[in-house]
Amino acid sequence: MRALPVSVLALCGLAVSACGGALPGAPVADQMARRDAAPTVSAEPAGTAGSARPAEKAPLVRPLEGRVVVIDPGHNGGNARAPKEINRKVNVLTQWKSCDTTGTSTNSGYPEAAFTWDVSKRLRKILKKRGATVKLTRPNNTGVGPCITERAAIANRLKADAAISVHADGSAPGNRGFHVIMPKKIGGPVDPVVGESAKLGKAVRDAFRKDTGLPYSTYIGKKGLDYRSDLGGLNLSTVPKIFIEAGNMRNAGEAAKFRDPRFRQKIALALANGLQHYLNA
Ligand code: ZN
Repeated sequence: MRALPVSVLALCGLAVSACGGALPGAPVADQMARRDAAPTVSAEPAGTAGSARPAEKAPLVRPLEGRVVVIDPGHNGGNARAPKEINRKVNVLTQWKSCDTTGTSTNSGYPEAAFTWDVSKRLRKILKKRGATVKLTRPNNTGVGPCITERAAIANRLKADAAISVHADGSAPGNRGFHVIMPKKIGGPVDPVVGESAKLGKAVRDAFRKDTGLPYSTYIGKKGLDYRSDLGGLNLSTVPKIFIEAGNMRNAGEAAKFRDPRFRQKIALALANGLQHYLNA
């Protein structure tokens, strides 16, 4: 994999702040997930009260039936070749920001965009099996954008029950750990969902720590939680929404984990569990 140009990496990777930011606007992934007939998850174990299993079949209820989740895989694999388009300024209410960024990468060149895409696909699969309707904000990892404004708009149009932007950070090599970013009130459209977003964030934070074993960020936020008013993907959201920064791609230990498909599956499962805890609460 080729390394991303340094000029672009700086947009997200080096400035710790930037990585969370981008969500863009172009092609809308058209995989509105059908409720496909995935294996069901039974509601409760039969006979918990000591009674015999009912003779007739208990209806099997998938835990996320009827819920709509938007997954936003941060950045895009083609962003580096389209600086003009992704550097275009868009209004995120508290400031003007680039339409999107390239994201960071590991020192060996595994790009954040590829990581977020893979995790997001895995997460989609798990959520669909649990009954949710799932939409991604981009259809592949070879395109450009969409802009952060559009990434937020996709979830808003669908009136998603929850939305999550998937990212990984690019910080100093000694820094490690994950954090969840939630919106703050800005006197804007996100204000009514700030409270729900905080609940979502805490649910995902708890599941992520438990299921991945990664520590809380050693360099941002408190106990894995951070609140920001500079991210378009949050400021423009009218549905409960968070960002996960899954860890530091520039930390050798975390980079090795992120490159491992089995660990990415673990991350996806953790995110699914956190979303489900929130949605079923
Ligand atoms: Zn990012």
